Amino acid sequence: MVEAIKEIHSSLRRRFKGDLLDPESVGYEDGQAIWNGMVAKKPGLIARCSNVADIQAAVRAASEHKVLTAVRCGGHSLAGFGTCDAGLVIDLSRMRQVTVDAERRRARFSGGCLLGSIDSETQKAGLVFPSGVVSHTGASGLVLGGGTGWLTRRFGLSCDNVESFMLVTANGETLRSDSRENADLFWALRGGGGNFGVVTEFEVKLHRLPEITLAEGLSPEPHIRRLLKFWREFMADAPVELKWNIDLRLAPHTEKTPAEHRSRPVANSSLIWAGDPDAGNTYLRHALALCSPDSVNSQVVSFLYLQTMADSSFPHGQRYYTKSGYFSNLDDTTIDRLADAAASIPSPQTQIELAYLGGAASEIPAGETAFGDRSAPFILNLLANWSDLRADAEHISWIRAVFNGLRPAMKPGVYVNFMSGDEQNRVPEAYRERWERMVDVKTRYDPDNFFCLNQNVPPRKHSAK
Ligand SMILES: Cc1cc2nc3c(=O)[nH]c(=O)nc-3n(C[C@H](O)[C@H](O)[C@H](O)COP(=O)(O)OP(=O)(O)OC[C@H]3O[C@@H](n4cnc5c(N)ncnc54)[C@H](O)[C@@H]3O)c2cc1C
Repeated sequence: MVEAIKEIHSSLRRRFKGDLLDPESVGYEDGQAIWNGMVAKKPGLIARCSNVADIQAAVRAASEHKVLTAVRCGGHSLAGFGTCDAGLVIDLSRMRQVTVDAERRRARFSGGCLLGSIDSETQKAGLVFPSGVVSHTGASGLVLGGGTGWLTRRFGLSCDNVESFMLVTANGETLRSDSRENADLFWALRGGGGNFGVVTEFEVKLHRLPEITLAEGLSPEPHIRRLLKFWREFMADAPVELKWNIDLRLAPHTEKTPAEHRSRPVANSSLIWAGDPDAGNTYLRHALALCSPDSVNSQVVSFLYLQTMADSSFPHGQRYYTKSGYFSNLDDTTIDRLADAAASIPSPQTQIELAYLGGAASEIPAGETAFGDRSAPFILNLLANWSDLRADAEHISWIRAVFNGLRPAMKPGVYVNFMSGDEQNRVPEAYRERWERMVDVKTRYDPDNFFCLNQNVPPRKHSAK
């Protein structure tokens, strides 16, 4: 690998317009770090591309020398797929152009964009792209895996809003994929992650959303069971404008948090009404009825506020571990288990995240995109977040124990973007009846599994490297 990396380095040096960082370069230390501090790898070379030709050159060189290659947009893969030991990282962080066509309500953005780069441009035209909830997340990884967020019920998943992709395939060629051209790939790219090539540009639909109301409240530990039962019933008939997420966690020590709740297990409700505030007030009031009155607040907020308000809760370099799954129903036993788990949460930033899908995302037929299950409305994400490496074992085993306790009640399926790096055996579960079709597309576009650092779908005649 060392010799091959040297050869790649010297061949790229002649034509590369971006930056080439090896372990001796200034900037390598920063360049090798990704968001999840649990993943500390040392790539042999980081090719920070500045244009499509750079990406083509990097893919061709790595492919020729058979070097393990990671593709990185925002570096937020929980599993750490944006880096590798000794191999090549194709880093797209210099490619963050966004162009908005306000009249057609369309945007084009490059493969290195963060969610925040897109939001700030689309908002200049008063438009929104439905994406995730933390603005420093990479858009490519998020959209290619599916993309859920505040506006999923109103406008669908991020991938449902993609009109076309431009990508560099494993042989270094550029290719366009949309509903007419390379339509098999268009199907697979909407949910199939980074399996098929380096996406250099996304063309997406935008939406008008002039007003958003945000409401929040805390329910103390004795009310968690009642709240979850109420939520389960309430969301079944809720309008698509309403998104209600619940995090079970230890209440933070902030001024906003009533003193009696601080550091105690609570259910933290965050709701938005994506529409006319007057129409939403009754729903929001009703939904927050089981929260402590002194913890409740509701305000009209800007889209940019909404999209950045969670940024500081998920800092770069912390240690993170996750497991996720779906439920068709949240039965009473599951609710008991969730409440018990809340009582044993090991650290202040660790959370049990619950979201209700439904709405526009669930109206798209299951076979229309590669994205996994759209029918199970309840999404669970167990997310441990801590800083001391001596607490690794405690956090990982807590997540595994809670997950194993809940697993029997789950519907098979998982969202690939919420999976850890030790769950390769669950990838077929993520795609289920779509698996064989995914393998076909992978075999056609990446027969040697060059793009293997992802929730991997191995091509037919090879297994993952
Ligand atoms: C703080 C935080 C908040 C999150 N919030 C949400 C959320 O609200 N909703 C949600 O759905 N998910 C969310 N996620 C999960 C997120 O979708 C995934 O972690 C996603 O992989 C991040 O994308 P990235 O580009 O930053 O990742 P990277 O680590 O850069 O890449 C992830 C994967 O995508 C591939 N990839 C990256 N760029 C390209 C490209 N241009 N072409 C082809 N393949 C590429 C990589 O090879 C890798 O396999 C969140 C994650 C974090 C860390």
